[in-house]
Amino acid sequence: MVATTTEPDRPARGDDAPGPGIIPAMAAPRQRLLLVEDEEPIRTPLAEALESEGFDTEVAATAAEALEAAARVQPDLVLLDLMLPDGSGFDVCRRLRERSAVPIIMLTARGEEADRIVGLELGADDYVVKPFSAREVVARVRAVLRRAAAAAPGGGELAAGDLRLDPAARRVTLDGAEVELTRKEFELLELLMRNAGVVVTRERALEEVWDTAWYGSTKTLDVHLSALRRKLGDDPADPRWIQTVRGIGFRFAGP
Ligand code: CA
Repeated sequence: MVATTTEPDRPARGDDAPGPGIIPAMAAPRQRLLLVEDEEPIRTPLAEALESEGFDTEVAATAAEALEAAARVQPDLVLLDLMLPDGSGFDVCRRLRERSAVPIIMLTARGEEADRIVGLELGADDYVVKPFSAREVVARVRAVLRRAAAAAPGGGELAAGDLRLDPAARRVTLDGAEVELTRKEFELLELLMRNAGVVVTRERALEEVWDTAWYGSTKTLDVHLSALRRKLGDDPADPRWIQTVRGIGFRFAGP
């Protein structure tokens, strides 16, 4: 469902039920996005796509609505169109930056390179160029959220039982002992832990960890996954952490 700006406040984040075995304070609740876009044919399908990817998505069609909604829902990330009927997205960006460090992705028009430069100087984190696919926006949103979580001091640590992953320090410990992982193994584990309880498809893992939409042989993924399992002492026949969802992907589960 796509939330509208007239909907009453939703419960504070963290109210979502944590996955089994996940320490509640560190479980990842649904992340909240604010999509600011006045063109309905862009806004509605994109909002629906973001919702179906697991993001709570608030929408706003004007600069005024955007500022009101940002104050009300405290989004984890803002997708911001630059040409709004009652003002410029740049002004919205500047006003948001005055009061928070919320990640901002600009939705810019093709060829408007100056817009991108100004936006990035005003503190936007990234941009996507219209026309974009929902898939492209989702990938960009995830990447920016990941960077933001990693940059937050100590705030990004993920934990399940005695397994801990610190994105900022790029460190994994199991029962207090450091687990040596390669970069790809680390990123794969981080992706799975961030989505604890949810199936991560093989395609998504390839896209996010290997930056490829290469759907042919996925042997590379299997090799890294099996090394990761071995290092975590996870038995594929009776997994404690990483379950295989046959033909689809994997799911991270606590003990
Ligand atoms: Ca517009």
